[in-house]
Order: sequence, then structure tokens, then C-alpha cells
Amino acid sequence: MSQRKAIGIDLGTTFSAVAHIDAYGKPQIIPNSESERITPSVILFEAGNVVVGTVAKNNCVAEPERIVDFVKREIGKPKEQFDRQFGDKVYSAEELSALILTKLKVDAEKYLQEPVTDAVITVPAYFNDAERTATITAGQLAGLNVLQIINEPTAAAVAYGVDKLDQDQTVFVFDLGGGTFDVTIMRIDGQKIEMLATNGDHRLGGKDWDDVIVNMVAEQFDREHGENPLLDLQSYQDLQSRALAAKIQLSSRQRTAIVHSYNGKSVKVELTREEFERQTRHLVEKCKAICELVMQEAQLDWTALGKVLLVGGMTRMPMVRNIISELSPTPLGEDVNPDEAVAIGAAIQAILVLLEEEEVSGERVLPEGTRQQFSSYDGGLMQVTNITSHTLGVVLWNENELQEYVYPMIGKMSPIPAVAKNHFGTASANMPRAVVRIVEGESTMPAECTPLGICDIKLPPFLPKGSPVELVYEYNANQVLEVAVQACGNQTRISIERNTGLAPSEIEAAKAGLAELNVT
Ligand code: AMP
Repeated sequence: MSQRKAIGIDLGTTFSAVAHIDAYGKPQIIPNSESERITPSVILFEAGNVVVGTVAKNNCVAEPERIVDFVKREIGKPKEQFDRQFGDKVYSAEELSALILTKLKVDAEKYLQEPVTDAVITVPAYFNDAERTATITAGQLAGLNVLQIINEPTAAAVAYGVDKLDQDQTVFVFDLGGGTFDVTIMRIDGQKIEMLATNGDHRLGGKDWDDVIVNMVAEQFDREHGENPLLDLQSYQDLQSRALAAKIQLSSRQRTAIVHSYNGKSVKVELTREEFERQTRHLVEKCKAICELVMQEAQLDWTALGKVLLVGGMTRMPMVRNIISELSPTPLGEDVNPDEAVAIGAAIQAILVLLEEEEVSGERVLPEGTRQQFSSYDGGLMQVTNITSHTLGVVLWNENELQEYVYPMIGKMSPIPAVAKNHFGTASANMPRAVVRIVEGESTMPAECTPLGICDIKLPPFLPKGSPVELVYEYNANQVLEVAVQACGNQTRISIERNTGLAPSEIEAAKAGLAELNVT
């Protein structure tokens, strides 16, 4: 019998956190080797060495050209759209994320004094197939068996709901982090935590509030000295960290001042909380609109909510907390730690997945204590159900209108795992192959959807026009798509040639490349 040790990882845009279930069945945050409970998701490249975390973050200003941050905003993009070169090696977004995950894994092993084998990694609920697949790849590159990819708000709800499964309530999870915004409505009922609706904006987060201050100071500098301090990378990074610090100060104080020096000249900008709130009102309105939309999608009224969970560092800002008070009569509670809830939920989910695996295989991989004490949360296993955050379709040809259109196979908000089958006729006689174009999005126009990839299927010979081809879409628990096609009784499971990400054959080579680096 081989024992396994699983961790939950909140791989954040600005910070990451790791948790595990201890010997007493309690979820615990694992501090990093700097004794911090969260690790900045910032990477510093030095000759042969990679430093992740606070040390890297502190070097943002001194060595901006050796730093990578906000990589989560790039994950899922192909190398042609995003890469970073250090020395003679070019890194994809997956590889960079893998370096952050390696730091988290290595530090967890040091703290726990045992090897970490498995992980559940969290992603924003609206992450698409490419972004999820790339996150799984990043985990594999870091030497982790990725048990599951789960949504951040689901993880927060699991952390909150684990000891409240007997209470029937609807929970609104408002998650505003450093780079992303995510809202999800969950229902906790009996042994089940069920996702009802979700929406978000993966380009809306704390950085946008920081940028308002950055621009304000840069404009003032330009007015006083006729120069743009943002053109110099070092000066830009410096101003960015000052803006972030000023923003955090304004969460507890009514006013602050930002001093910035560049090229021997300096500027001082006084900023009150009131003025900052006025300047960032458009961001608050964006958040509000998404909250309203998700309530409409769930067909719920604000009075139906039993709890609003605030997740993500930005929810410490009074103006952000006010968004909820302006919308909902539900009082805000301090039920979860906004920085830690997601990692803790992921750690709980990791144990649930391993318990399920134990049941199926009959092999015991968890310590006896964990199994017993974990199950004793409420006498049985908790069930977590997610829904899809995007529609998955196939591009078809409309003979009457002589144009392509998107046929939705699995609709938005379908419970996961989801399976959809449909028959289509071949477009002409003797077609040697059919190319299935898979897209993600809510429009019927192919150009307005995100292309996911293609499946190229060899068809049996001599098929007349209109021969039935059965297409099966399977959306698995990780919200990653698998496709099967059946033509003339032959069922073929086809791997999607995804537009993005590393191909399976490239993963081993990338893993070997990363193993040469010393990550601390
Ligand atoms: P997360 O990605 O959840 O770690 O959120 C980090 C974001 O929250 C960053 O933009 C931080 O600047 C921001 N943040 C953290 N603490 C505070 C605070 N007290 N006031 C305002 N923003 C904060």
C-alpha cells in the first residue's frame, strides 16, 4: 500500500496559498519556507536559479527585466501569444505557472516532512477549457498528480460549508482578487454543495485599482516635469508598488500620500479615500453589473441569500464591501478568511477525491486517522456539484443560408459532468473525413466564439450525403472537454488538437527542462 499526501492549492494572480488536512482531520494552511501563509505569485530569474515569492516580489523594482508576475492572466495562451525569455530558454505560461507550483510543493514537503504526491488546484469559475487544461499541465510539470481542477468560489463554499451541511442555505460568493473577479451562487443543502450560477471578469481585479493611482501620479508628474515616468520599466514597477501600498492604506485610513521620484525629479500626490472611491467608481459599477447578472441567471432575488462570502484580498476595501451592502440586505459575516478559504476548500476536496478513489480501487492511500476523522464531518461524504460556465458548441454548415453557425452541444449552466449526443449528416457524398470544429461561447456566430480546437475524423468509405455521424461531447469533472464520434457503428474517441497549450508529447521535455532549474 502506498500512502499519498494531497494538498489544496489556490494558484492566485498575485498570491498563492497551500493547505492540507492534518492528522486530526483539520484543514490547515501550510506556511512557505519564509514562514508566510501566502506566497506572492512572482518569479525572479537568476543564473540557473529561480526564486518565487516575497524575495522575487521585493526585486520587482531593482530588476524588473528578470521578473514575471500576473502570469495567471496569460495561462492558456499559446506560445505565439505569450512567452518570456530568460537566458537562452523561452518559457510558456504553463511553465512559468509550474515554477510557482514547484515552489509551493517543495515548501509544503519541507514543512510536512513528507513527499507531496497529489493536488487539487483552483481556478476562476469562468476559466475556459484552454485555461483549465493549461493549469493541469502546469501541475504535471511541477511533478504533481492533479486530482482535480475546481472553481475558486466552489472551494470557498466548501471551506465555509463543511461544517454546515445540515443548514439549508443559498450562498453568494464574491471573489475579487489581484487580477480576477468571480461571482458564484451556491446552494448548501443536505450533504450537497451545488453551484447554481456563475459569472466573472478575468481582467478585473486589484491591479485595476492600483493602475488608477499609477496613472494619477504619472499624470501629475507629467504636468509638473513634462515627462512620463511610466516609460522606464524600473520607475513603472516602483510606482506600481507604491500605488498598491497606498490602496491598502486607504482601506484603513481616510487619506494617504504617494511620493514618486524619477530621473532626479519627484512628485507628491495626496489622495483621500473619498477621491479614490470617486476615481474608481467605474470599476465598482462593473462589479455590480456582474453581480446583478449572476442573480438574474440564477433567477434569484437578493432577499433569498442566506450568506455572502467575501473572498480575495480586495474584499478588505470598504468600497468593495459596500457593493454588497448596496445590493443585498444580507449582513456580511467574517465567516471565511479571504486569503485562505480557497486553498482550504481545495484541500478538503482533495481528500474527498482520494476517499472516492479508495472506494473504487479498494486500495487505502490515506492515513486511517484522516479517513475516519474526515468522514466524521457529518457522517458521510460531502457531494460538490458544479455547472458549466460557458456553452460548448460545434460549427456546422447551414445549407439554406449558405453560412456557418454554432450548434450548442452543452449549454452554459449544465451540471457537471455533462454529456451531450447529437446526430449530424455528412455534407456531401464520399466524404473521406469530417473535421469537427469545437468552439466555446454564447453566440451562434463562429467568429464571436473562442475556438477550442478541432477533431479530424476519418470516415468509412462510400458514405452517401447526409449519412449520420454521432457526435458526443463529454465535459469531465475538471471542466475539460473530451469528444467521441460514431460513424457507421465505429465509435472513435478523438483527442482534440487544441489551439493552445503544450501537446502531451511536449510535456515530458518541458518537465525535464524545468527540473534543471533550482527553484526556491
Ligand atoms: P488575492 O489575489 O485574493 O490574493 O488578492 C490580492 C489583492 O488584494 C491585491 O490586489 C491586493 O493589493 C489586494 N489587497 C490585499 N489586502 C488589501 C487591503 N487591506 N486593502 C485593499 N486591497 C487589499
